[in-house]
Amino acid sequence: MEEDLFIRSSIDVLKLATPKITQGLAKNVGTRLLDIALHVPTRIRTIYHAATLNPALEGKHVALSGVVEGHLPPRQPRSPYQISFSIGPQKVFLTFFNGHPSMFTRTFVLKKKMTIVGVLRWKEQWQIAHPTIIPSPLTSQTLFQPLYPLPDSIHQQRYRAVVDELLAVLPNMPEWIPINVMQEHNWPSWKDALIQAHKPRSEQGVDPTSPAKCRLAFDELLAHNLSIGLLTYHQQEQRKAHALAPDEKFFSTFAELLPFSLTTCQKDACQTIYNDMLRSRPMLRLLQGDVGSGKTAVGFFAMLLATNQGQQAVLLSPTEILIQQQYKALIPLATALGKNCGILTSQTTRKERTELLAKVHAGDIDLLLGTHAVLEKDVRFKALNLVIIDEQHRFGVQQRLSIVDKGLAPHTLIMSATPIPRSLTLTLFGSVHVSRLTTRPKPFLVETKAIAQSHIKDLYAKVLEALQQNQRIFWICPLIEESETLNLTPVTKRFEELQNTFPDVHMKLLHGRMKGAEKNDVLDAFRRGDVLLLVTTTVVEVGVDIPECNFMVIENAEFFGLAQIHQLRGRVGRKGEKASCFLLYQPPLTPTAEKRLATIQAEPDGFKIAEQDLQLRGSGDVLGIKQSGLPPFQIADLVAHHDLYTQAQHVAKSIVETNPFLEGKQGTRLRTLLRLLKGDSLSYIHSG
Ligand code: ADP
Ligand code: MG
Repeated sequence: MEEDLFIRSSIDVLKLATPKITQGLAKNVGTRLLDIALHVPTRIRTIYHAATLNPALEGKHVALSGVVEGHLPPRQPRSPYQISFSIGPQKVFLTFFNGHPSMFTRTFVLKKKMTIVGVLRWKEQWQIAHPTIIPSPLTSQTLFQPLYPLPDSIHQQRYRAVVDELLAVLPNMPEWIPINVMQEHNWPSWKDALIQAHKPRSEQGVDPTSPAKCRLAFDELLAHNLSIGLLTYHQQEQRKAHALAPDEKFFSTFAELLPFSLTTCQKDACQTIYNDMLRSRPMLRLLQGDVGSGKTAVGFFAMLLATNQGQQAVLLSPTEILIQQQYKALIPLATALGKNCGILTSQTTRKERTELLAKVHAGDIDLLLGTHAVLEKDVRFKALNLVIIDEQHRFGVQQRLSIVDKGLAPHTLIMSATPIPRSLTLTLFGSVHVSRLTTRPKPFLVETKAIAQSHIKDLYAKVLEALQQNQRIFWICPLIEESETLNLTPVTKRFEELQNTFPDVHMKLLHGRMKGAEKNDVLDAFRRGDVLLLVTTTVVEVGVDIPECNFMVIENAEFFGLAQIHQLRGRVGRKGEKASCFLLYQPPLTPTAEKRLATIQAEPDGFKIAEQDLQLRGSGDVLGIKQSGLPPFQIADLVAHHDLYTQAQHVAKSIVETNPFLEGKQGTRLRTLLRLLKGDSLSYIHSG
């Protein structure tokens, strides 16, 4: 296939990709050809080619070549359909618990020679349940069959056939990795690397340090670093921002507005932001701080400062709940300074929206707060000077870009509680400057305790005690409804059970499928204390601030990442009072899961937790995987490929320095890489 066509094609072009397969892959894998190309196997099954059946093969995956001897339809309704299959003088029964007799007679034609694969069992006779048929006998003693992470609806064998079809049309890509790097590692070409990754020739084939995996990882790391490098170069370094006229008095003005005095860390961060904004070079700063470290106050400082000389600022938050809360908190400060605030979310009516957008465009709104809705094309500012992105991990680079494009070159402040380990921060954010709030305004006194699901009665007793003291409780469950594949407690089921257990308690259900207004009502009632028990999914994870709440239960804690648990428990004890967080888990735990629960119980510092989680589980999980919005590497692993990361960073840096417009032959090749892996990132170098 031609390279451009390959990049643009979706998997429908493959004959074997049925709608069922396409739909099954859409959510977690993707629907482009490239998505399946990069969706490499994570496990390998060894299949033994057996000429004779012997006890050593019991329980193993075997491939057997033989002849169909006879059909034994079930005598009773529940017994299986059996087919006797002979391997020389020996016999094995192929058993099927579902399927139609006509299908069996069609597939297993009497006296037909074929090769089947399945798990060999001895139950008074040799048996294989639900074997699969492979097209030709194995040519070697062992076959290494790749196993893919797939939804239940997709059969591994079907999927392997789709992959085979794909591998046959892979184009030869021009080599974008510099030749010296290729030679240093002795890496295969892109195409060969993919073939090797999908067709492992040993059980070590899925090892992240195999040459094929390293090469593909390097592609991702290079593309990532290059796109961040180019973004920074073109959006920040080459552009001018409004340079603020010095106004030292502003610090005291701001301090007087606040009901509390800033911590030293907050003050330092404000000072740094102030210094950044005096320059005509756009600020690009990441404000990192654990949950409850007081990032919002720093953000408000930046917003009020940025609008101090007649310009505009926008604050972007990931959820409706959060933005409403911030809006309420900001209004008094803004009003005191004579500023107009606006709020734009998906709940804003069409009429309100039109009016608001006109005001924003005319410059009559100084401070705009919003969710994703402010990213839409028709939101235009008169003079945008600052963009703040709160809880950055929910927004991708592209979204950030689209808003940055709105002004001339506004300053950007990204606020994140995602406890990215120190070692990875720069790695992930390139040349972004970092400020950290390392202390909290109030002490962290959340006692965390793991309780096995079987002891839920003990927990109920504690809950009852807390309720009797009029305490409010967050009860968090991982899912909304029952899942077929995950054995987790859905929030709806837990709600029902809690209602039955505590019939007199006023409790409410909260989850992401409820309407925005409804969610706000529930949360307000909980905030007021009219509702004491809030049974909810992780919609409360990001930033919900109910300072009086000191009791939380997280159900199926083993399912959550530590970073996420830490985020969640940051919702309690926010006044600096003693608080409890109970982690309900489903035994038995794996040793790693046990260590993880021990870590989260012992360690209050989100950044240290992340550091330890990184050691325990590897990078993918620590960063909250997909939902984190951090570069979703498919193959690269920030632990296993750490050195490659550093190398990719160097290579990317030198490309940005020497060829920022990606010109010439090298440029064309790198553009192909970016088109392939970072579809969004070429838009901002067109000006070359
Ligand atoms: P986060 O960093 O998680 O966004 P917030 O900005 O929501 O934290 O702050 C957490 C809580 O601490 C809020 O209730 C906020 O009003 C309060 N707070 C922030 N800074 C201070 C301070 N310097 N002194 C006292 N309380 C503060
Ligand atoms: Mg916050």
